[in-house]
Amino acid sequence: MSRWAYVNGRFVRHGDAAVHIEDRGYQLADGVYEVWAVMGGKLVDSLGHFERLERSLDELRIARPMGRKALELVLREAVRRNRVRYGLVYLQVTRGVARRDHAFPDPQPLPAMVVTAKTLDRKAAEARAAKGVGVITLPENRWGRCDIKTVGLLPNAMAKQAAKEQGCAEAWFVDPDGLVTEGASSNAWIVDADGVLRTRDTTANILRGVTRKSVIALLGEQNIRFEERAFTPQEAKQAREAFITGAGALVLPVVTVDGKVIGDGVPGPVATRLRALYIEAAQASVI
Ligand code: PLP
Repeated sequence: MSRWAYVNGRFVRHGDAAVHIEDRGYQLADGVYEVWAVMGGKLVDSLGHFERLERSLDELRIARPMGRKALELVLREAVRRNRVRYGLVYLQVTRGVARRDHAFPDPQPLPAMVVTAKTLDRKAAEARAAKGVGVITLPENRWGRCDIKTVGLLPNAMAKQAAKEQGCAEAWFVDPDGLVTEGASSNAWIVDADGVLRTRDTTANILRGVTRKSVIALLGEQNIRFEERAFTPQEAKQAREAFITGAGALVLPVVTVDGKVIGDGVPGPVATRLRALYIEAAQASVI
């Protein structure tokens, strides 16, 4: 089956898709991105990702490449053409193509935009969630605006590689105060030793996860004590449960932190329930 990508105004075969060598995304990481999960061929948490995309663009003073309606059509078309039922759609928007200079080009070029979609193996994802994954912790080394979803992902890529080399799925960054900020591509959660569900608050230097927000909304009818309160790696290691959230992970149980087994070493009841609730809400298109 041929794969398709959307590049600056048209769908092209994935193998032929290319951007300009002086695209500022390529030269300076001067761009943002968004990722939507796809379930049943539909975008999950669609609105939250659009809102965050617009905020990221506004914070960097990059023009919006098109209106929300048109963008949604392009994303849906990428899903359709690539026949994705379960997977991910990626969107990158950069400040555009200009002669290399750090300062913003004047006049402003048109923003450049790329959309790709890929299918994921749902059975493998469910098996992974049923088993749980390991995380490692690493010193925070990213810039101070992690609330903006930029394509500047080198520290995240380095952290993921370190995790992979230790047989783990994710790396949690730990700030100079000794508190976990978030994962390289997910938000971090624990159910602490007292049974309180905790995740870092969004005044910290973290991405305001769309999945994080929906999971918090889903807590409404659950009888779970919850606080947006930072935790240390030590608290995570003594926690009853841990898990991560994100468009890729959805809600994914964590069973080891730096090699220390969490709880009984199997996915905990809270993480398991929240994963089921999130997937149910996504499939019912209520998020
Ligand atoms: N934190 C980081 C650094 C991420 O890259 C991501 C997702 O890609 C998340 C958190 C989770 O965000 P979301 O739930 O919006 O996918």
